Parts: sequence; structure tokens; C-alpha cells
Amino acid sequence: MSTAWHSPTTREEVLRLRAELGEDGTLVAGGTFLGVLMNNGILAPEAMISLAHVEGFERIARDGAELRIGAMVTHRRLEFDADIRALCPMIADTFAVVANPRVRNWATIGGVLADADYASDPPAAMIALDARVVLESASGRREVSVEDLIEDVYQTVIEEDEVLTEVIVPLDQSAARYRKFRTRSHEDRPCVSVAAVQASGGLRVAVGAVAGKPQIFHDICALAKGRAMDSGLAREIGTAYAERIDPITDARGSSAYRKRVIAVEVRRALEDLAA
Ligand SMILES: Cc1cc2nc3c(=O)[nH]c(=O)nc-3n(C[C@H](O)[C@H](O)[C@H](O)COP(=O)(O)OP(=O)(O)OC[C@H]3O[C@@H](n4cnc5c(N)ncnc54)[C@H](O)[C@@H]3O)c2cc1C
Repeated sequence: MSTAWHSPTTREEVLRLRAELGEDGTLVAGGTFLGVLMNNGILAPEAMISLAHVEGFERIARDGAELRIGAMVTHRRLEFDADIRALCPMIADTFAVVANPRVRNWATIGGVLADADYASDPPAAMIALDARVVLESASGRREVSVEDLIEDVYQTVIEEDEVLTEVIVPLDQSAARYRKFRTRSHEDRPCVSVAAVQASGGLRVAVGAVAGKPQIFHDICALAKGRAMDSGLAREIGTAYAERIDPITDARGSSAYRKRVIAVEVRRALEDLAA
């Protein structure tokens, strides 16, 4: 069976194709995830809708107190973009540790969030930053927090006729850190990742790669309310996260091992935040 290839250049055209083709039309961004599935015979789409040439999807812009990042902005651009580095360095730090330059040159922020792999780096970072995504369809537009976007492994709330067009990141953080703990190679996905952000609304800590979706506990983060971060508080929050999470076991570490790593890595992220 041959695959029909669509290469729209406008937002309206993408949304029309998405509405017309429904589940028969697979969106392709950087293709780094889809390529693996297709090369292994797991996926054979009837039609593919490339987002590569859609005007505006590659834009990065500051909009008042927020940063707007188009869905097709690559990991590599986020790693090096001068505005990103100046306005929110944790974004650059997070995207810089994904896989290797070959993957980062192609993979996109829209692709990684829509993909919702439990062991990807950016989802935990975006949740800690309280980022939202814009989901558009021919019949409308809605904004969803990344926390609500990802439901479980490879499961999101994106409807069949919707496209993730943009990521919006608030710029109210006074400090933000991303830590990636690997157990195999330098290019591997995390065994445990921790994103910690001190923002005007309070502390936000998200732990990735340990469950079907990144774990954030607002009641535990609230322990920091009105208190200066120090090693005692960092340890208290790290221990509480480790006790609350029931980690998965996979090739990167057992559940018991991950529990110990979560306590240490959350503590270290919070100590980094205070430094
Ligand atoms: C060898 C290798 C190692 C990797 N290591 C890591 C790692 O350490 N850390 C990490 O975070 N990631 C890692 N990744 C990358 C990651 O898992 C995904 O491959 C990548 O982020 C997907 O981005 P993409 O733009 O290539 O998406 P694609 O492969 O094009 O698409 C992914 C999925 O999202 C859908 N989609 C894409 N864009 C949109 C959109 N705008 N709206 C709605 N749906 C959309 C597609 O239909 C598809 O289902 C690795 C990948 C490879 C191949």
C-alpha cells in the first residue's frame, strides 16, 4: 500500500486536511518517532500530513509575560536560540540533553508533547514551567495545560481533528532547573528526570520517566510556601515525592532503585534552585 503525502503550507490547509482525513491522516513533524514505528512495520499510514512547511509553525516570539513557541520549532533551535537562553534557560538546558544532535536537529516541541512518551525529557520540564499548548481544529481553538494534555503513555487529549500548533510558557520564574539522571549511555533517555521551578505562583516540581506521565504533587510543593529553600526543606520534599510515587520498572532501573533516585534527585534539584 502506498502512502499519500500531503504538504500543506497554511494553517487553514492543515486543519482542513485533518478534518477530512481523520484517523487516516497521520501528522508528521520531525518524524523521529514515526520513522522508528514505520521502519519496524508497526505503523503504515494511509496518508501523512507534513507540518514542515506550514507558515508560522516555526516561530518563537515573546508575548508580554509569555513565550510562544511554534509546534515545529526543533529541539536544536531551543537549545541554541539566544532569546530562549536569555528568557528561560531551563528550556535550553532541557532540550540540549535529549538524545544526540541528529535527533535534536529533527525532533520538534510539538512532536515530543503530542507523542507523550513516558521517558521523554521535555514533558516534565514543560509541566514544571506550567506551560500550555494550543490545540486547533477546523471548528475551533482551545488551550490546555501540558499537565492535562498528557494522560498516560502515548495518550493525550488531542482529538482526531486537532493539531497542536503552539506551546505557551509563562515567564514568571525566578529560578528553574532540569536534572536528567541516566543509567545507560550518555545519549539515553532518563531513568529519572526532575524539573523544579520557582515561579510567582509557588514551587512546581515534576518528576519524569517514572510513571505513565510526569508526576507533580501540588500539596507537596506547597510545603515550600513561606519558607526559604534550604537543604532540610529540599530533603523533606524529595522524601515526600519518593514516598508518593510508585515507580515503574524498565531497562533503565527497577522500581525500588528509582524510588531512591527520586528522593536524591528532587533534593538536588531543589538545592540547585536555591544556589
Ligand atoms: C534514537 C532516539 C533517541 C531518543 N532519545 C530521547 C531522549 O533521550 N529524550 C527525549 O525527550 N526524546 C528522545 N527521543 C525523541 C522523542 O522520543 C521523539 O522521537 C520526538 O520527540 C518526537 O518528535 P518529532 O517532531 O520527531 O515527532 P514525530 O515523530 O513527527 O511525531 C510524533 C507523534 O506526534 C504526532 N504529532 C507530531 N506533531 C504533532 C502536532 N503538532 N500536533 C499533533 N500531533 C502531532 C505524530 O502524529 C506522531 O504520533 C529520541 C528519539 C530517537 C529516535
